[in-house]
Amino acid sequence: MNNLIQGQKHEWEMVIGLELHAQVKSNSKLFSSSSTKFGSLPNSQVSLVDAAMPGMLPVINKFCVKQAVKSGIGLNAKINNYSVFDRKNYFYADLPQGYQISQYKYPIVGEGTVTIDFKDGTSKNIRILRLHLEQDAGKSLHDQNPSKTYVDLNRSGVALMEIVSEPDIRSPEEAGMYISKIRSILMYLDTCDGNMQEGSLRADVNISVRKPGNEYGTRSEIKNLNSIKFIKQAINYEAKRQIDILESGGAITQNTMLFNTSTGKTRPMRNKEEAHDYRYFPDPDLLPLEISSKEVEEIKSSIPELPDQLKNKYMNTYNLSNYDASVLTTDKQISDFFDQTINSDLELKESAKIIVNWITSELFFLLNNDNVDISNSPVSPSNLGQLIKLINTNVISGKIAKEVLDEMYKTKSSPIQIVKKKGLKQMTDSSEIEAIIDNVLNENKTMVDQYLSGKDKLLGFFVGQAMKKTKGKANPKILNEILLTKLTKKNQSQ
Ligand code: ADP
Ligand code: MG
Repeated sequence: MNNLIQGQKHEWEMVIGLELHAQVKSNSKLFSSSSTKFGSLPNSQVSLVDAAMPGMLPVINKFCVKQAVKSGIGLNAKINNYSVFDRKNYFYADLPQGYQISQYKYPIVGEGTVTIDFKDGTSKNIRILRLHLEQDAGKSLHDQNPSKTYVDLNRSGVALMEIVSEPDIRSPEEAGMYISKIRSILMYLDTCDGNMQEGSLRADVNISVRKPGNEYGTRSEIKNLNSIKFIKQAINYEAKRQIDILESGGAITQNTMLFNTSTGKTRPMRNKEEAHDYRYFPDPDLLPLEISSKEVEEIKSSIPELPDQLKNKYMNTYNLSNYDASVLTTDKQISDFFDQTINSDLELKESAKIIVNWITSELFFLLNNDNVDISNSPVSPSNLGQLIKLINTNVISGKIAKEVLDEMYKTKSSPIQIVKKKGLKQMTDSSEIEAIIDNVLNENKTMVDQYLSGKDKLLGFFVGQAMKKTKGKANPKILNEILLTKLTKKNQSQ
């Protein structure tokens, strides 16, 4: 795949590495028993540990450790039996401890790989460098008071998994696919809820550009993005900015940047000289974390079917393409919906491709418009199955089916009820269709003459007129056949 971008003078290649922060799905925090529930009143879920009161001691949450190990297994990564929690020291108003407990030299998970699948059927592996556990910080609220900033510590101490990739990503699209894939894996594992809007998955994007084949260039790092759309925009903007500097003879300085989502531009936050010295050291309140291989094996045996396995199953069982199968497995909600649809009726077993098309085009269109998740779809899987059966058995045409789907979406009724109530059943009775065609030909005698003297294009006009008279309900195949036979007859009798 050619990802090169054309500058004023040269072609350039983007080099991208991502640091993803995935919030561990867990009822309580990494080192305290406070709740992690989203959207509660500010500071209603803060224990003395989370507020960093003197003398408080952190106690590791075993469930969060298991979740991290599970995630590591899902990323095909090495699980480290020995890891260490370090203090990462910096000052910030929403960090009451004055340090974040994180892992530095000895992370809980080491090297892994994630595969992304392209539309053209090819795939690519992105290497993972590490996954480590760390605490989230609190949140500064700037918009509650005109002259004050408030701090909400509900998030303080919530467990995060930081997943760091090697700089293997080469385009904004690949970055988007990589994030979707990780999100999907974590959601199948049930180790992260994947909710980007609520900040459960956020990314720091590292990007540099180089002439193809050259060494890696100097990178900048764009902090804290929580939508794939913004990540792609930020990468495009930043790559162009770097190329412009390099082509006019300048050099890139290693900056930490912020992306402004309203202007679509990046701006520097600090440069390397101002970079923090975090003075990492092992947290004296916590022992090194040891997990036995037996425990790791136990966790491994509890792992559910993962997106790549399910994808292969779809390809083998239903003959779906690599890409179609990977679209279905981007989200457990989608593959569940597909499974329920195809299993709702034995006669649908051969219709996998049609089902995928209806889910990913028509149904997604309706759901996206209203920002509704497929798990809350007003069209149930079995009703979608029934709709597809009506098309397969020629009761309605694909075109009418779209109308029926709109109505199913609005009213939650079954397609059969709608077809009955609105009289949308396809007209397959040839004598009925014949009468309508006769009518059309009689009403348009001059056009018929023009057609017979060689204006072939008029055929579409006759079809259109006849369809209009049947309100789109005539079976198109039968209509075309009858029309052609009639016109040929007229030609012969001329
Ligand atoms: P830091 O701790 O300073 O952020 P890391 O070595 O952990 O540095 O790297 C952070 C991220 O930067 C990784 O995801 C890595 O893939 C990416 N990265 C490293 N070098 C480059 C580069 N030249 N261009 C783009 N990304 C890079
Ligand atoms: Mg970094």
